[in-house]
Amino acid sequence: MEQQVTTKKVFIRTLGCQMNVRDSEVIAGLLGKEGYQRTTIEQEASVIIYNTCSVRQHAENKVWSGLGKFRKAKTDNRKAIIGLVGCMAQNYKEAIFERAPQVDFIVGPSDIHKIPEIVNKFRVDKAQLRDRKLLERKIWETNGSIRPEEIYHSGFREDKNHAYVVISEGCSNFCSYCIVPYVRGRLRNRDYKDIIKEIEEAVDREITNITLLGQNVNAYKSAVNFIELLKLVNDINGLKQFSFITSHPRDTSIDLFKAMASLGKIKKYLHLPVQSGSERILQLMKRGYTRRFYLDLIRAYRKIVKDGILTSDIIVGFPGEKEEDFQDTYNLMKQVEFDSAYIFKYSPRPHTQAENLPDDVPQKEKERRHQLILALQKDISKRRRGNA
Ligand code: SF4
Repeated sequence: MEQQVTTKKVFIRTLGCQMNVRDSEVIAGLLGKEGYQRTTIEQEASVIIYNTCSVRQHAENKVWSGLGKFRKAKTDNRKAIIGLVGCMAQNYKEAIFERAPQVDFIVGPSDIHKIPEIVNKFRVDKAQLRDRKLLERKIWETNGSIRPEEIYHSGFREDKNHAYVVISEGCSNFCSYCIVPYVRGRLRNRDYKDIIKEIEEAVDREITNITLLGQNVNAYKSAVNFIELLKLVNDINGLKQFSFITSHPRDTSIDLFKAMASLGKIKKYLHLPVQSGSERILQLMKRGYTRRFYLDLIRAYRKIVKDGILTSDIIVGFPGEKEEDFQDTYNLMKQVEFDSAYIFKYSPRPHTQAENLPDDVPQKEKERRHQLILALQKDISKRRRGNA
């Protein structure tokens, strides 16, 4: 039976990283200003939004298979407006309409501020047209680059104790395997005064624990640099604790560690993706640092930031990764002893440089390496937790 949609309700499903979690809050806040309440029941929503991730094939597969659910939602809830936003929107553009005709609109990550306007247009069109085939549904808003500052102050926060605060958007590093610069654009930094204002707003609402977010967070630079920003954040009255994610080794320095050690409110936690322990693979990945550089950084971190937590990301099975390259990664992990690590099997991503390299590590071998590293990290994590 067709569900009655009487009030304005929005259902948002979020996939992917913390940046998407924050973007979904922003979307909920913007639609909230238009009178939409958030619902966790897809069938009662008048607007259904999938906020998607393209960083790995696996994440995309989840969305493609979830599109069956979209179809069902369309059957159960004929009046719902369905949007696909985020990195997959930017990545696939019109191809999404071909694969998922039930989707009404697609919006890339840079243009989420346009969602209320798009939704309102659909509401009006749908009210006026009986035959939805007549709807002009090819609204495709993926060309913007800088988000208007107001969207970060739209008010909605999912968590009442913790807030994500975006300090920069996009990334200009172009690591050879990574789709982020193509779907989220080049690095853009927010004005530090706006960042401070957003944190103060959160503190006013008694949220005293925050995480500064950026794809390459420690490359931040506006009128102040990243370390100066950390000092300003540390000085905010009422704020109790803060951290930052994700750092790039190339932008990480002894001065950053000194700031981490001396600033009272900063969490002693560093997520520093190494991706590979092989010199050759790091070069192919275009990471911009050597194994030696990374190991020296870690040595300094452990010395300066006493009892600091250290986590990382690893990719196994990158094109051309031989057994000895894998062993280099394995040994680096044994040597460094991360507290935890996210371990991924390489999958080629569209637009990237690595897409042109032969994906020549067989799936079975990727699986074997993945399992070996997972088992190693599990042991290390257990031991480190025991030591804590
Ligand atoms: S630093 Fe590299 S891996 Fe990280 S978001 Fe930028 S391009 Fe991607």
